[in-house]
Amino acid sequence: MKIKVLDTTLRDGEQTPGVSLTGNEKLRIASKLDEIGVNFIEAGSAVTSAGEREAIKNISAQGFNARILSFSRPIFKDIDYCLYCDVDDVNLVVPTSDLHINEKLKTTREKLLDLSNNAIDYCKDHGLGVELSAEDASRSDLDFLEKVFSVGIETGADRICFCDTVGVLSPSISYDIFSRLSKLNAPISVHCHNDFGLAVANTIAALKGGAKEFHSTINGIGERAGNASFEELVSSIKILFADEFETDIKMDELYSASKLAARLTGVYLQPNKAVVGENAFAHESGIHSDGVIKNAETYEPMTPELVGHKRKFIVGKHVGTKGLNSKLLELGITVNDEQLKEIFKDVKSLADMGKTVSDVDLQAIADNVLNIDYEKRIKLVDLNIVSGNSVMPTASVKLDIDGKEIVEADVGIGPVDAAINAVNKGISEFEGIEFVEYHVDAITGGTDAIIDVIVKLKKGDKVLSARSTRPDIINASVEAYISGINRLIE
Ligand SMILES: [Zn+2]
Repeated sequence: MKIKVLDTTLRDGEQTPGVSLTGNEKLRIASKLDEIGVNFIEAGSAVTSAGEREAIKNISAQGFNARILSFSRPIFKDIDYCLYCDVDDVNLVVPTSDLHINEKLKTTREKLLDLSNNAIDYCKDHGLGVELSAEDASRSDLDFLEKVFSVGIETGADRICFCDTVGVLSPSISYDIFSRLSKLNAPISVHCHNDFGLAVANTIAALKGGAKEFHSTINGIGERAGNASFEELVSSIKILFADEFETDIKMDELYSASKLAARLTGVYLQPNKAVVGENAFAHESGIHSDGVIKNAETYEPMTPELVGHKRKFIVGKHVGTKGLNSKLLELGITVNDEQLKEIFKDVKSLADMGKTVSDVDLQAIADNVLNIDYEKRIKLVDLNIVSGNSVMPTASVKLDIDGKEIVEADVGIGPVDAAINAVNKGISEFEGIEFVEYHVDAITGGTDAIIDVIVKLKKGDKVLSARSTRPDIINASVEAYISGINRLIE
């Protein structure tokens, strides 16, 4: 059974607290979604703002293979805005639970039914396709819900969608409901939220019950706990449910789509996120790494290549010599058995002190064991910060670059930004260094937490991560940044 995918990263995903995308960013994500074979793209909600409308209109004008939708309430004004945006379909969202009908809309079931049908009529009269979505369907009276859907289909809805708006479905109930509603005269779609971590399971159960389409977002972003995760659904269908379902999605683009969405939305993933998390194919323990090197199937349910990800061997407390050697080879370092043993000993002692060993650390250990005398070209001599609630954050740095002393100062939107700006001024002779990513974790709880900063830098084809762990976020950031740059300009 071919399952169609509606991606709502640009609508429900954008409703993630703190996320706001520019028109250009929306277009980049939409292009990626179209490229990887998504069937429907919900590009936004046309009524939101003039900027949102221009973004949706621009996406509609691209001539993508995917059908483009806008969210719409059953209100003519909303639908007129959708028409302005030249979308193919509207996602016509009609609340069906008594709670929403009575409390939110302050109306009655009968009036709601009229509202819904008039809106469908209006859409069809203006040449719009309609996906009729029942909001809060999982807390609606099923007989009434069925009536809204069947009358809606008679009026002209092309597809219907059951929304588990607050994520309260469970898989067996989902299966039963979809077994019933899929007998109606239009394809039914499923839209799940992840409040209890069941969005993907409930979506799969809906497909088993007869749903022909699902809604999802990249990385599972969305309101509150988010939506069903696109990459988890697509890959579990591919690997676990291949004899029942298939999608049009190009699997090997899943990781790059996830990365793009994370970067543009600023919502970064937990490392253990299924399929696309940084640890999804990472192996640290000696026994696991050893097994994976002999035969990857021992500890991997699918290959990282399938989803465009990479296998990684993490060097830490549990690393074995084989895993360590693979990691060194990955860094372009070849060692003999004696040298490997020596590096292994140093790594273990660092790990015993509670540190995970970054690429930069490992390179330094290897350089040391291999007697590569590596002189850091840039050294931080001095760093001063002025910050507060009534001053522009300002930083001055003294750097030693190839033995030459350089003093620079700059301002920024915060003290870290000011410090990095000042360093950038100081190292302006090294061109083409790009700051790709900046990631901060507070390892322990309180305001005295140890701060772990990871920066990802790029120069030409060379990309590397550098890390620093300190109690002071500004020092950690500058140290990680300078150590990364030193590696890039060796
Ligand atoms: Zn939703």
